[in-house]
Amino acid sequence: MTEFHTTDDIATLIQEGQAALLAGDTYEARQRFRRVVEVDPTNVAGWIGLAGAVRPYKEKQQYLQRALELDQTSTEARASLEYVEAKLAIGEILAPRGVSTPVDDPILTSFDVPHSAAQNEYADLEPATDIQYCYIHPDRETGLRCTQCERPICAECMVRAPVGQLCPECARARRPRNYQVSAGNLAVAGVIGIVGSFFANFVAAQFLFMLGFFAFFLAFILAPMIGELFVRILDRVTHGKRGKEMQVTVGIGIGLGAAPLIILPFLLGAFPSLPLLLFIIMTITTAVARLR
Ligand SMILES: [Zn+2]
Ligand SMILES: [Zn+2]
Repeated sequence: MTEFHTTDDIATLIQEGQAALLAGDTYEARQRFRRVVEVDPTNVAGWIGLAGAVRPYKEKQQYLQRALELDQTSTEARASLEYVEAKLAIGEILAPRGVSTPVDDPILTSFDVPHSAAQNEYADLEPATDIQYCYIHPDRETGLRCTQCERPICAECMVRAPVGQLCPECARARRPRNYQVSAGNLAVAGVIGIVGSFFANFVAAQFLFMLGFFAFFLAFILAPMIGELFVRILDRVTHGKRGKEMQVTVGIGIGLGAAPLIILPFLLGAFPSLPLLLFIIMTITTAVARLR
């Protein structure tokens, strides 16, 4: 890329930046105005625009002071600076989200969000030209960006990807369809788990009861088959949904369905059949393992 920029380039960048500010897209605006002052550090409109595109008042103040140094006659820079310094004087740290200009905008400023005491720790935040703020936590500085949508994200929100890092939204969208499980899928999986398990275990209990010691062998053979059967049925109904949520739901479902056969003997003063317990546990582990 050549570093030669005509006045046209800068005029376009400023126009685009101002349009982005009006549209409330401070991220786009920030990119444009940063570029302007990078290319031409004496551009007053660039510094004023940048002041409008960042949220910390300290940072706004710094940019506006620069604009005023460059052009002492700029009433816009002066008015904005007064506004920002008034905000700083009453201890405000961050401008409310989406405010396009720091200048007298009674509608926008009336929506000033209340600032929590926690934000005061940023009071002596040292403004730097390249600070970005996590788009989920606007009060957190970060040098990280989502490699897909390029929005700034903090280390806590970041999701590691094979290449670079993603924001939570992009990470979710990138998961294979099979792992995008809806509440409806989980409800269906849970019901199938409970009902299926109740009947499977009820039938299994009759057989195992008759077989005595050999019941252990039968349980050992039968459980993986029943677990597999659960997964086949679920695959049909949920179109092959997988993942932790499915595993937990189905595991609990099968457990709940089997619960009466474990609890009932206790209530009758007996110990539940050991082969049956083995059968239940193995059915759950097979189904859960297969749903990974
Ligand atoms: Zn993203
Ligand atoms: Zn964050």
